[in-house]
Amino acid sequence: MDIINDNTFMSKVLVLNASYEPLNVTNWKRAVVLLIKGKAEPLKHNDTFVYRAFPLPSVIRLRYYVKVPYKDIPLTRRNVLERDRNTCQYCGYKGETLTLDHVIPRSRGGQDSWSNLVAACVSCNINKGNKTPKEAVMMLNKEPRKPYSSLYFEIIKYTKGDRNNQWRKYVIGI
Ligand SMILES: [Zn+2]
Repeated sequence: MDIINDNTFMSKVLVLNASYEPLNVTNWKRAVVLLIKGKAEPLKHNDTFVYRAFPLPSVIRLRYYVKVPYKDIPLTRRNVLERDRNTCQYCGYKGETLTLDHVIPRSRGGQDSWSNLVAACVSCNINKGNKTPKEAVMMLNKEPRKPYSSLYFEIIKYTKGDRNNQWRKYVIGI
């Protein structure tokens, strides 16, 4: 049994709406209160225990539906890089010197959009040039899409490396 440490990433809990869509990230204490009050059900837990036979939840689902107002995320360089975890989407390089690549080059009609902009290292960007990924034989790590809310960035923060792996099943595109 591990001792609960509130500073660890393990102590963060992904809360799903009744519809199974990610709703927010909370700390383990609030999650446990929701479980004890019967307002949520546990879906996943890790190997830490709150007390005997009460595993620390990792993902919980509310038993009632919460209506969430839609908040748009601006298409900015910083947000695209953050979505892509500051990782070149072609070769996996992580670092500070990343550029934005148009998947379909601008010269070929490619737009500035969430689905056409990805993080790319300088050398991949140069190698790709004015080609499509298929022409350049440079496959994308994953299909770029618009993050659905700022919650997405919070989830990315808490799932760095293999942290909170249990969340991945419930979040598209991480
Ligand atoms: Zn690269």
